[in-house]
Formats: sequence, C-alpha cells, structure tokens
Amino acid sequence: MQYTLPELPYAYDALEPVIDAATMEIHHSKHHAGYVDKLNGLLEEHQVADMSIEELLASISAYPTGIRNNAGGHYNHAMFWESLTPGGSDIPAELEAMLGESFGSVEAFKEQFNAAALGRFGSGWAWLGYEAGTGELKIFSTANQDNPLMDVVSEQEGACTPVLGIDVWEHAYYLKYQNRRAEYMNEIWQLINWEKLQERIEAAG
Ligand code: MN
Repeated sequence: MQYTLPELPYAYDALEPVIDAATMEIHHSKHHAGYVDKLNGLLEEHQVADMSIEELLASISAYPTGIRNNAGGHYNHAMFWESLTPGGSDIPAELEAMLGESFGSVEAFKEQFNAAALGRFGSGWAWLGYEAGTGELKIFSTANQDNPLMDVVSEQEGACTPVLGIDVWEHAYYLKYQNRRAEYMNEIWQLINWEKLQERIEAAG
C-alpha cells in the first residue's frame, strides 16, 4: 500500500452545524478512503514506482485517467481536511494584507472565490493558488479531482502552490444543503483555518 488515508484532525461532528457529522463521516471514511484504495490498486496494476503524491501529480499526464482522478482525490481531500478547523481560526495579518492587495479585501476575496465555486459546472474544486516567483495569489476552479499541482492544470492555469481548495462535489454538501451550493459556500468561511493557509504560502517561499 503506497498511500494511506490520513486521520481527520478533528471529530466527525466538530464542524457542525456548518458541515454535518454524517457528511463528514461518509466523505472521509467512504469517499476519501475509496480514492486511496483505488489509487493504490491502479499504481500496483500499472507498476508505477513509489514517489510522493506531489511528484505523481506533477507528471500526471503520463498516467491513465483513473490514476489522475484518484491521485487528485487523495491529495485534494487530505488538503481540504486541514484547511478547515472547528470555528475557524483568526486570519494572520500578513495573509489579510496579501488578500487585500490581490483582491481588494478579505470579503472581496471570498466573493470572488465563491463566484469561481458557483461557476464550476458539475463536480470540481475552487482554488486559491500562490505563485512563489511573482508573489501573486489567484483564484480559479478545476473539474473532477484535478488540482494545480497536476501538469495538465499548471499548463493551463500557470504553476502555483495550492493554498486553499474547497470541494464543490455534491457529496461535500448535499445531505445538509441539497442543491444549494451557494449557501454551502457562504457558510464554509466560518471553518477556514487561515493559519494553515499562511503556512502553505510561507512554505512555498
Ligand atoms: Mn469530496
């Protein structure tokens, strides 16, 4: 087994009432676990050498679609769980200033991010990415389980470090919000671990 399902950094019910416990349990123990299991099976089937998930994503165009979908599914969810924290965190002053400079204000950033999330037809993710070279922050969305570390995405969107990814597949919100993706996106800001986002920017250099 090459990759393993990470434990959640909080209990299944810790994000209530924004994300209900049943959604979290199914999302983590069924969906995310499924991506990990399928990915490991496909890597064995195709005799892919051991490498980090980041290395695999950076060369994902060389592999079958099933590996792309499940490698993205594993990376994206592991990142998503850590992007959330019960009650949300305070926003570091440095990140607040960066968001203000890039998007006008933190509130304007949320509006633009939500527009990307709502504009994604069908299943996918909304992203905040950071370009270490230019110091630029940018918002975009991807289909399915694609993410900005994938060569197929970076060729289109420009290489960047994923800072925040929000899952807009219906399985992320349907039990509580049904078809109301906009309501889910409005509420989820209560849970953001801004300190983790700041760490990711700092780690990117
Ligand atoms: Mn998901």
